[in-house]
Amino acid sequence: MRNVIILGSGCAGNTAAIYTGRAGLNPLVVIGHEPGGQLSLTTEVENFPGFPEGINGPDLVANMQKQAERFGAEYVFGTVTEADLSKRPFRLNIDGEWQECQTLIIASGASARWLGLPNEQKLIGHGVSSCATCDGAFYRDRKIMVIGGGDTAMEEANFLTRFGREVTLVHRRDEFRASKIMLERARANPKIQFLLNTVVEDIYDVTQKTVTGVKLRDVKTNRVWDQEVDGFFLAIGHVPNTKPFVGQIDLDPDGYIVSKGGARTNIHGVFHAGDVQDRTYRQAITAAGAGCMAAIEAERLLGEGH
Ligand code: NAP
Repeated sequence: MRNVIILGSGCAGNTAAIYTGRAGLNPLVVIGHEPGGQLSLTTEVENFPGFPEGINGPDLVANMQKQAERFGAEYVFGTVTEADLSKRPFRLNIDGEWQECQTLIIASGASARWLGLPNEQKLIGHGVSSCATCDGAFYRDRKIMVIGGGDTAMEEANFLTRFGREVTLVHRRDEFRASKIMLERARANPKIQFLLNTVVEDIYDVTQKTVTGVKLRDVKTNRVWDQEVDGFFLAIGHVPNTKPFVGQIDLDPDGYIVSKGGARTNIHGVFHAGDVQDRTYRQAITAAGAGCMAAIEAERLLGEGH
């Protein structure tokens, strides 16, 4: 029986582990299907306080884990497939093995969203990717396309110009969610072309088992055309990782945990931290802050003997 189990090893989970570890609660951190969370898929992080020159995302998150381990946090590879939160101790099925805990911190984050095109899933790893940092280097001197109009799309498009001959950014509107600074940076990059008011209708070519091009449609004129592409990168946001908790924890219509104030969920003893609940800020620093809040709430609850 654990005092606290933390689900997720991103900024939120690691910070919760540092705090609960330091409070002597010997937390167990379940690493999840994306070790290190979203920071492990980024390059340079320029806005995490304390690093005036910026810091490499994977290094930042690895440092956090080291810091938590120093205070006795234990990390295990695995994902939760099933949970029983009907009473305490809570029970979690971690890759077939049930574990019990007094308090639970859900910091399982959110995973990349896909367009849902029939050929998309078949071509993942064969030209379709949701991670520019992971796969960009495969497209040296090739034609790259990035889908999305948020900060991620701008960041990835910029990053991919290091490799690609040209980068086309396709966005379904002509307004952007991206922050001004990120948008301006992408606009100023001569290797990036913008295709606005445009959607992807199909990805070719499953028979060749590699991406060769896409079918595009201008949503204003309905013009449809094919364009040659070698690397197809999705940057269209994320879906919260809350599947094992459906029907137990209050979730909003998109699956994000509904906060009951602070880090509290509708279940006494279950706390949320990071992108699994936060659909507004979604920053490394806010996730870290949320991990701290969840840890303090768990510590207080255990300290009060509830
Ligand atoms: P986001 O801000 O939610 O943007 C998602 C983009 O994908 C939007 O432009 C959206 O279009 C588009 N989209 C969504 N579903 C689509 C679909 N089915 N087909 C076509 N387009 C679709 O997500 P994000 O860019 O991943 O950013 C998430 C958060 O992380 C934000 O808070 C962002 O500021 C932050 N972030 C910060 C940095 C940084 O500061 N270094 C870097 C990356 C991310 P619509 O606009 O039309 O809805």
